[in-house]
Formats: sequence, C-alpha cells, structure tokens
Amino acid sequence: MRRIATALASAVLASVAITAPAPSAAAAPPAACSGTRTPSSFRACVATAATVYTALWAPQLVGRGASATAPRISIFTDVPVNPCFDATLGDVAVASFWCDLNSTVYVSAPASPYWTREYARAARQQGVLASDARRVHRTQKRLLKGHPNQGAATEFAHELGHWVQYASGQDDYYFVKGQGTSRMADRYRSSFELSADCMAGWVQGRAAVTGTWRDTPFIRWAGLATLAELGGDLSDMKPNFVFPKETEIIAHGGPNARLTMYRRGFALGSTGAEGIDGCAAVAAHFTGTVAPPRSEPPR
Ligand SMILES: [Zn+2]
Repeated sequence: MRRIATALASAVLASVAITAPAPSAAAAPPAACSGTRTPSSFRACVATAATVYTALWAPQLVGRGASATAPRISIFTDVPVNPCFDATLGDVAVASFWCDLNSTVYVSAPASPYWTREYARAARQQGVLASDARRVHRTQKRLLKGHPNQGAATEFAHELGHWVQYASGQDDYYFVKGQGTSRMADRYRSSFELSADCMAGWVQGRAAVTGTWRDTPFIRWAGLATLAELGGDLSDMKPNFVFPKETEIIAHGGPNARLTMYRRGFALGSTGAEGIDGCAAVAAHFTGTVAPPRSEPPR
C-alpha cells in the first residue's frame, strides 16, 4: 500500500539491514533484551524480538490463511532510503516505522534510549517515579537510566502489529475507511494505530505467559513507559501508569488510549485469546468504529 505507519507521527535514517530469522519452535530460557547500551546489544535485542514475536504471530496468521513470512528488519541511525517515506523531506523523523511496499520494519537506533528515559523523567517531575520504583523493585536512579533496548522492543512490537495488519489483509480496510478529512475517517486512522498498540500488548503478553520472553515487573514497566511516552502528553499522570482520559482520540492517541489498548492486548495474549480480530475489535470499540471483517488476505 501507499502509506507509512509509525509508532510516532514521524520517522529518521542509514541502515544496517538484517533479516529476521525464521520463527523457531521453542526457546528454552526466556529471551530478553540486554540492559546495556551498545550498538551490538541493540541489534541483538531487535533480532531476538523479531524471532520471538514473529513466531508467536505466525500461527495466528497461518490459521486464517495468511502468509507468515517474516518481515525484513532494517536498523537505521540516519534517515533510511525506503519506498514509503521521503527521507529528503525536512521533517526529520525519529521513530521506527513499517513500510508495506518492501515488507520491512525500519527500527530507529537513535530513538531507542528516548522512550523509557523520558517517561522516567516526566514521572520524577510529577512525583510518580518513587511509586514506580517500589513497584518494580528498582531505584529511581535506575529507572531514570531507562531500558532502551526493551523500550525499542516494545516500539518494534507496535510496528510488527502493522505487519500483522498487512499480512492479514486488515490494513486495506483501514486505508479505505481512513480516506478523507471527516471525523469518522480520523477515527479509523486512530483505530488502525490503536489496534497496533493492542497487538504490541498481545505479543508481549503472549511471550510472557509462554515463557518465550523474560517477564519481570521492570520489563513490564519498560513496555508501559514506552507506550506512554509514544502517546506524547505525559501531564497529569498518576501512579501505575494512569493518565487522564482523552476527550477526543487524535491520531495515534494519547497515553491513556495507547496504554488502554496495550493492556487489553496484553490480557488477550496472556490468556491465549486470538489477537488479530481481537485487537481490531478492541480498537474499534474504543474509537466508535467498525472492525474490519475477517477477510481472506489479498496477497
Ligand atoms: Zn503505528
């Protein structure tokens, strides 16, 4: 299709292309992303997340007759040349994005330290960080360092949701419904993004409960912190990732909307519920739209 889907509103740069390994059957010890900040640890984190997450989605896609061929993964540090996004435009982008035209998830290395760290800073400013630290058994100082690799894995999980929407044929529905400038078209575009947040939660909840990804309060904190930060406005936060309900869902949605979708997806995944139609239905209900019909994938 002719659209770019990002976790934020925008995206940035050069790329080291890696190909996600084919889904493997079972991982003995739970996978995890290192807390170190080296480029190699970042690449390893993304590759591991790609392996684990695509393996969890594969049965869902195959079960509905869709291809589960894993997307390509390209890590970038500078605006990448790609068929979906004009890297020469002045609006410098920083976030990861999915490009359907070459079935590639572009993963932003520069963005990775940002999500969890900036959430922690905002939480400190608003007096919430101490509560977070007690809950996840870390010091405030440790939380302020963030968990860039796990944050990147969560951002990646959202982009992988767009791959799932593409592979399942859902994205064509959202594209048609999202045309124009009407309020309802806006809602469909939001529903498309919020369903991807739900899918990020689904795959991480599924990974946690199946033991394919390490599950600790700190790792869950990093996932929630990432989605909150991606939501933009972190004002008026309360302990345990509670944010004011938006009066109107705009674009990707604010922290309340995004975390609500992520948590509902996490619950679906951790209980073994279906994730593709399930997340579409959750997002449709939240946005007052109609979920895409379960259709045969067109490709
Ligand atoms: Zn997105």
